[in-house]
Amino acid sequence: MHIANKYSKKIKQYFSSLLLLDLCRGLTLTFRHLFRRKITVHFPEEKTPRSDRFRGLHALRRYPSGEERCIACKLCESVCPAMAIHIESDARDDGSRRTTRYDIDLTKCIFCGMCEEACPVDAIVETHVLEYHGERRGDLYYTKDMLLAIGDRYETEIAAARHNDSAYR
Ligand code: SF4
Ligand code: SF4
Repeated sequence: MHIANKYSKKIKQYFSSLLLLDLCRGLTLTFRHLFRRKITVHFPEEKTPRSDRFRGLHALRRYPSGEERCIACKLCESVCPAMAIHIESDARDDGSRRTTRYDIDLTKCIFCGMCEEACPVDAIVETHVLEYHGERRGDLYYTKDMLLAIGDRYETEIAAARHNDSAYR
């Protein structure tokens, strides 16, 4: 029975090759799509919708009062599998702890999102921004000031995306 199945499979393969069935199937698919409406997206003028969970450029957020959200717990630094985050911190005069240095090396980052998942105060987040580049290695080394500036600039979009996604967290 096993041998019969084996031979029948081989015969099917033989006729399939002889009659170019795979080629015909491929061409049928090509012709089927030839006259359909084209769906080419002309980036950057046109953009496809992005998920609220899209993991793009990082940002550090502030509270509406202007105070930094980050409490220097270093959870993001310890969870980062690429060791892309570097934090230094110090206590303020009022006893609260804040970062004195918060850098992300985007040449190491694999955009896994674990830093934002680990953050207890939603301070470090990944935005929807994907249009950025660096011409030298150092251009992709984002400092605390740069990350806070991105957070300030995109806070409305960041807050909206997190609100939309809150039911699934
Ligand atoms: S996204 Fe992942 S790799 Fe990048 S900084 Fe965050 S934890 Fe590290
Ligand atoms: S960004 Fe969040 S997880 Fe990272 S040190 Fe600040 S508070 Fe902690």
